[in-house]
Amino acid sequence: MSNQIDTALRAMTVAVRAASACCRAVQAAMTDADAVRKDDLSPVTVADLASQAIVSRALAEALPSIPLMGEEDASPLRGGDRAEIRAAVVRAVARAGAELAEEDVLAAIDRGTHAGGASGAFFTLDPIDGTKGFLRREQYAVALALVVDGRVTAGVLGCPNLAGGRILSAARGRGAVAEEMNGSGAARVRVSGVNRSADIRLAESVESAHSDRGASESLAARLGTSAAPVRMDSQAKYALLATGGADLYLRTPTKPGRTEWIWDHAAGVVILEEAGGRVTDLDGRALDFGAGRRLERNRGIVATNGLVHDAVLAALS
Ligand code: AMP
Ligand code: MG
Repeated sequence: MSNQIDTALRAMTVAVRAASACCRAVQAAMTDADAVRKDDLSPVTVADLASQAIVSRALAEALPSIPLMGEEDASPLRGGDRAEIRAAVVRAVARAGAELAEEDVLAAIDRGTHAGGASGAFFTLDPIDGTKGFLRREQYAVALALVVDGRVTAGVLGCPNLAGGRILSAARGRGAVAEEMNGSGAARVRVSGVNRSADIRLAESVESAHSDRGASESLAARLGTSAAPVRMDSQAKYALLATGGADLYLRTPTKPGRTEWIWDHAAGVVILEEAGGRVTDLDGRALDFGAGRRLERNRGIVATNGLVHDAVLAALS
């Protein structure tokens, strides 16, 4: 099993590195006019679909027996009126080193239909987490995780705009590592040592629709923290905590009953936990990644450096 996880983590890292380079190239070529084009022709759509094609294809070659749950499918590329974007995605995939025919690109994207569940192994992928951040040229992430029997066992986060570009990765029980985009400079990462509630640095979404700001303000007041929250798109927030740059990431549903997609958290959770952090839902329950495409059995997210976790949960209850 441990050899299998090493093999999987290596293949996952190679796949995320290639997809991250592809996203970076699409973003570099994007003009401000492109960024506001209508959604199905926007560069973020091209990068999103190319990223899923690249990761899916790489995983299918390295680990063909493990199915993939991807956020995207190829429907935005199908149909006679989609030739322009279809060609753009094929070009973006080719630039990343995979010369694939159009049909193979579509098939690779559509391979990501796995429904998840509590038994067996599957990958879960967000090909671009933080699409709004991508368009603003701020933070976004390529997020890939391996879930085995409902538990995340390995994860890789490609963060092309974090500290000049970083890939973070972790396998359960082996610690978390950050490296540069080209794979050099790999080093273990570790959460902060902050243990006083008043010193907690909070990270939250840039998009106010994604998490209840009022809830984080009232929590901050109860904890006695005065620092302004760090607002950042995507799972780069988990990377920030895993490297000691913030101590709490809070996500409170804006509507009762709204649950989180598993690909928005799986990679970040194992990386943060392996860096010494802790992640539960708002009620202190462990996250259950075996409930399908969403975290159906959990309410919101509390991710911390571990040291302040109990104090945060107490302040929430
Ligand atoms: P973030 O950049 O942390 O705000 O997270 C981006 C992710 O938020 C996207 O990948 C979406 O899946 C997710 N998202 C979209 N709408 C909502 C919502 N209303 N509540 C929570 N998450 C959302
Ligand atoms: Mg996402």
